[in-house]
Amino acid sequence: MEAICSWKISNNWSCPICKKALESINHALLCCDFSSPVWNLWPENPLNTREIRWSFIDSAMFLLSHHPQHDLEYFFGIAWAIWYNRNKVVHEGNCLSHQQVWQIAKNVVEDSYNAADWDFPQLRPLPTKWNLPPPGFFKVNVDGATSNLGGNSSVGAIIRDYTGQVIAASCKILKAGYSADLVETLALLHGVMLAQELHLSRVLMESNALAVIQAVNDKCTGCSSGHIIQVILQSRNSFESCTFQHTSRQFNQVAHELAHYARRAECSQDWRGVTPPFIAALVQADQL
Ligand SMILES: [Zn+2]
Repeated sequence: MEAICSWKISNNWSCPICKKALESINHALLCCDFSSPVWNLWPENPLNTREIRWSFIDSAMFLLSHHPQHDLEYFFGIAWAIWYNRNKVVHEGNCLSHQQVWQIAKNVVEDSYNAADWDFPQLRPLPTKWNLPPPGFFKVNVDGATSNLGGNSSVGAIIRDYTGQVIAASCKILKAGYSADLVETLALLHGVMLAQELHLSRVLMESNALAVIQAVNDKCTGCSSGHIIQVILQSRNSFESCTFQHTSRQFNQVAHELAHYARRAECSQDWRGVTPPFIAALVQADQL
């Protein structure tokens, strides 16, 4: 959590979930009132997490030296899912159930077994216009807005179906000003979560931030916004298909305008099944 504070993601040290304790790795992942019941859903849990006496690292080391690799994978899978939920609470104000977090953890572990089968997207040429997604797919355009002159950053996302119809649009004002790369990464996360919220199963994510798209496609979790990329990669598992592609700024105008709207109006707003009037002309222009 100290690292999170130093990344300026948050200045708040108290646990965002139970609000009862200072947030530390051990608290967030093991001891929090929310986390313990998740650990109890692991049927073969070799650690007695009902009475945590060890630190997170001690627990990991114990499993590493005394248990099969499978147990360690579950241990990290559950820890990751708890952290994912914690981020969901922080960024979206919405908390999953213990059962949902456990399910995400199981998916993480299973996916790690299938990791060798992952296919890596090919580099594709930049489009010459905004293109409709194929039938059955939804396109999610995202963009972030930030300024060196200060003020809060913001993100915008718009989802359209294969006929070009607007399914949802959203813009969100963030609580601080962040670097351009970080805001673009948060915008992508915002778009992924919006699609998740709408239970869409096949999505094409599009951003004009090449570095961010590359970082996600390369699973580059070691960079400064690596923790957010990790959440994005994790969230991707909840879709039947979720790909990330780069587009030019010119064909990402609608998301750009949404993000700037949030910054100008200093507010967050969601639209479902309607096109916000201030982007109607841009939406129409995309389809020409
Ligand atoms: Zn807590």
